[in-house]
Amino acid sequence: VKIAIAGAGAMGGRFGTMLAQTDNPVTFIDLWADHVQAINQHGLLVHTDNGDQRVHVPAYLPQNVPGTFDLIVLFTKAMGIADMLTALKPVITPQTHILELGNGIGNIETISRFVPKEQIIAGVTVWSAALNGPGEITMKGDGSVTLEALGSNEAPFFKQVVQVLTDAGLKPTASHDVLAAIWRKAALNSVLNTYCTILDCNIGEFGQLPDHDAMIDGVLGEFAAIAANQHVHFDAAGAKQLIIAQFPDDKNGLHYPSMHQDMAKGRKTEIDFLNGYIAKVGARENIPTPVNATLTALIHGQEKLKTLH
Ligand code: NAD
Repeated sequence: VKIAIAGAGAMGGRFGTMLAQTDNPVTFIDLWADHVQAINQHGLLVHTDNGDQRVHVPAYLPQNVPGTFDLIVLFTKAMGIADMLTALKPVITPQTHILELGNGIGNIETISRFVPKEQIIAGVTVWSAALNGPGEITMKGDGSVTLEALGSNEAPFFKQVVQVLTDAGLKPTASHDVLAAIWRKAALNSVLNTYCTILDCNIGEFGQLPDHDAMIDGVLGEFAAIAANQHVHFDAAGAKQLIIAQFPDDKNGLHYPSMHQDMAKGRKTEIDFLNGYIAKVGARENIPTPVNATLTALIHGQEKLKTLH
């Protein structure tokens, strides 16, 4: 399977590194020229649990990509998907499948503007990684992938993708209700990422706040109402349990969520694809979503003030 990683940041770098250990050819594609240049000059420097390595995988800006691919693994931020797919239009063929495992709701709708749903494989992952600077990532800890072919999980190419991910050690599981998994992860992020960013705290500190329970319920109650409207299975009690399970220090208590890190670096957050998605659909469908709308406005406010200070 000829693989491209489109968006070779933290997660793209991790998946590319692991996939490059199989027999399948891997290419990195990224819009950040300094990052592309660093990878081509020195290889991608990767810090792992077992020490450092340099991964030599060719990297290109989208407009310079040679040839076509069987599988494009998309790992831009949610708001970067459309720009990346627009840039890659010339190399996307009727045989190209897009694998999308990023955070947020609405990514499938965005990708559907570029390819038919039979060419989309969607899911979520609990692998993690960090981008330290051009040409350098840290990938530690364990993870897994849950994914579903939007055409059919019986399609031979989907089975091949699952085998390739297995060979790379990425621990994939095929699902028949990947939307439920995507919404559960989005709900977790819409609570922990958003509150920890607004409150400038880590996950454990959020869990110690006396009012954390009401804050979680406010977000999840509106998620449940919008999920019902969209015919998505959403288990608010299960999502809440998953959130609370992150509080101890030996789970994710000491961790500052990625939105907190993006805000600190002055980068745009994925808020419009988390709480913002719930607020947007609520407004469109006349379903009250004041908690998620207010949280979205607060994060946008912080983003805006960052650029003014
Ligand atoms: P990332 O910010 O590391 O990379 C995303 C894109 O942004 C890449 O194309 C990268 O080159 C570009 N980029 C990053 N810094 C830049 C800079 N200073 N200048 C120019 N371009 C820059 O994002 P990520 O963490 O790999 O996340 C990709 C998706 O995966 C997101 O939807 C995220 O929510 C999700 N996700 C991330 C993690 C994680 O641990 N990082 C875990 C699960 C899911």
